Order: sequence, then C-alpha cells, then structure tokens
Amino acid sequence: MSLELSQKALKIKPSSTMAITELAKQMKAEGKDIISFSAGEPDSRTPEHISEAAKKAIDDGLTKYTAASGLMELKQAVAGKFLSFNHLKYEPEQIVISNGGKHSLSNVFTAILNESDEVIIPAPYWVTYSESAKLAGGVPVIVTTKKENAYKLTAEEFETVCTKKTKALVLNSPNNPTGMVYTRKELEEIAKIAVAHDIYVVADEVYEYLCYEGAEHISIASLNDEIYKRTITVSGLSKGYSMTGWRIGYTGSSLEIAKLMGSIQSQQTSNPNTIAQIASIEALTGDQSEVELMKTAYNKRRKYLCSRIQEVPGLSCIEPQGAFYVFVDISDFLGKEYKGQQINAAADFARILLEEYSVAVIPCEDFGFDDHFRISYSVSMEEIETGMERIKEYCESLT
Ligand SMILES: *Cc1c(COP(=O)(O)O)cnc(C)c1O
Repeated sequence: MSLELSQKALKIKPSSTMAITELAKQMKAEGKDIISFSAGEPDSRTPEHISEAAKKAIDDGLTKYTAASGLMELKQAVAGKFLSFNHLKYEPEQIVISNGGKHSLSNVFTAILNESDEVIIPAPYWVTYSESAKLAGGVPVIVTTKKENAYKLTAEEFETVCTKKTKALVLNSPNNPTGMVYTRKELEEIAKIAVAHDIYVVADEVYEYLCYEGAEHISIASLNDEIYKRTITVSGLSKGYSMTGWRIGYTGSSLEIAKLMGSIQSQQTSNPNTIAQIASIEALTGDQSEVELMKTAYNKRRKYLCSRIQEVPGLSCIEPQGAFYVFVDISDFLGKEYKGQQINAAADFARILLEEYSVAVIPCEDFGFDDHFRISYSVSMEEIETGMERIKEYCESLT
C-alpha cells in the first residue's frame, strides 16, 4: 500500500510528559517503590461539594446535550470569575467552554491561524503549544529565554522576533515548567509590543490561582483596551480545582473569535460533558475554601523542596512563585558519568535517576531546554523528603 498519511499529523510529537508519567505509574504497578515528581496535576481529590453537584446532575437527568459552546449558566459563572478575580469584563457570549484548557488552545489556534502564520513561543514552554499551533497550520517560532531573566520573555526579545508573518504570542503565567509569574510592568511592556505590531496574545492562565507569597497574578488582557481586543484568555478548572479528569476549560475573547471557536467546536466535539459543566458551576460559584487549603499545602512543599534542591551541590533553581513546579538546572553535571554511562543531557540524567534510584522527573528537552528537568511538588511532604534523599545520593555519585 502506498497511501500517504497526513504530513501535518506525522509532524506531531506525542506528549512526552504523559509518557514519563505513564512509565512511572507502570513501574509502580509492578511493585517498584517509585517516587514520581513527574505529574502535571494536583494530587488531592476533587472537593466533595463539586463531585456531589455532578452526582445530583445525573440523578436529576441533566444528561443531554447543551449548547455546543457550553451552558449559559456556566458561561455566566466564568464571566463572574473573570470580573472578580481577573478584573476582566467578558459577556457570557464572549466565553467558550471546552474539553479542558488544551482543547481551548486548539480552538484558539484553529480560529486565528492561517497556513504559515508565525506563533511566538517563549522557551521553556508547555509541550502542547508548538504541536497544537502546527496542527492548525502555524509555524512555531521558539524564543529561548534567559535564566538571568528568570526564564521570562523580555519585551526586547519579543520585538526582535516579530515579523510580518507573526500572528500570535503565547504567554503562560504562572508558568509551566518554571513557576515564574510575570509582573504588571513586564506585561505592560510586552503588551505595548503586541499592540504596536498588531499581534494576538494567547494568555494561558490555567495556574492563576496558584501564586505564592506576594506574587500576584495579572491578566494581560486587563491592562488596557487595545491589548484586551487582541488577547484570548485561556483558563480552566483542572489545576485550581483539582479537576483534571473532568476536562473543562474555557476562553474569554472578542465576540468575533468566540463565535468562530463556537462554530469550530460545534463541528468537532459539540459541547463538553454536560455533567462536568454542571459540576464546574458549583466549583466556580460554591465554597472556595478547599482551593485555599490546597494552595497553602503547595506553598509549604514549595519552600521545603527548594531548600532541599539548594542543598545538593551541582543542582540549581530559581525559587518558583506560582504553579507547582520547580525548574532545575543540571548543566553542572553534563559530561559526568554514572557507572560508565555519560550524562549528555537532562534526558540521560532523568533516565538513570528513574532506573537506578526509582525517582521520576521530567527532562525538559521537549520544553526547549535540554539541560534542565522539571520536578512537581504536587506530592506529599514525605515523598519530597524521600525523593530528595535519593536525588542527592544520585548526584553525589556522579563523577
Ligand atoms: C495543565 C495545563 C493546561 C490545561 O490543562 P487541561 O487539563 O487541558 O485544562 C494548559 N496549560 C498548561 C501550561 C498546563 O500545564
């Protein structure tokens, strides 16, 4: 058979973070004592009152289709949250509810990109941006940020890569994998360039609830009218409410883009799961105390984990201000060996760590940094303690 498959599809890399998480899970299932720092999701259960709302929806027979772009009541709840939390005014009609933030991003790229439009993606970046943009016909333009700038894109770096073909900038704050949070001033400078060059900003704010000790989440769209018009704000329930499996994400955008995404979605998936949408109304409008408790727990682990990393000679990190990740620099270990195996990149470092010390971390090649790994503190304090003992022992054995 000589039938050709889709060139676009063949160019897509499968999600590497999911692959390692799966491998660690599999090793655990085989009875190995694995400590996994690879998860990209909260470790706590979905708050009870949210699950109860879903059970009630089933009992009440609310199990039919909704409008393709989502339930009006949920859009209203999202609009209310945008106003009170983000100081952003979106009418319910400007909101589209999708199957997770990942799906929202895919809708955004499909709605705004034409073949060979450039999408600026600051590295390190969440692996999905480049692949999702490519699927929509876009060309990712990766800009490597600097450690001395806390891995944040500067306005100068942004302006340098703008061309006539630039259609959008992807901005993720709080950031996965670095945990960095852009300040108001940094966002103002970036916004100025985006407006001057007439570029869309795809603002991925899924970690917005998780900012610690003085770091403040600012939505770039809230800065002024000009940037508001050019921004598509993406968020979702997965991270803040420990609802990853429910698959609910959403966007706030201009009415024109919202309508376009609504029609794309109406042909591709129809509405996101009705029961999950009803549970999401409860999440956004109900008791928020568990969200606060989760945040307090993360903050404690964040500080403990950073202090343990800093105790290990050769490892270095910038203390994260948000999300639940630490981005760890291992460049000091490049060229060193573990029992004859040479470490040439974070991928080697992580593979040996998993095989020999049963600790899973995510090497960040696919995030655009091959001498860093990502460690998630969405695990218990005990696991952080044991895992860091092992990592320390491993690093000390590298010669
Ligand atoms: C987890 C995550 C998302 C979205 O996750 P969904 O479960 O699809 O809502 C989006 N962006 C980043 C950076 C993430 O880490």
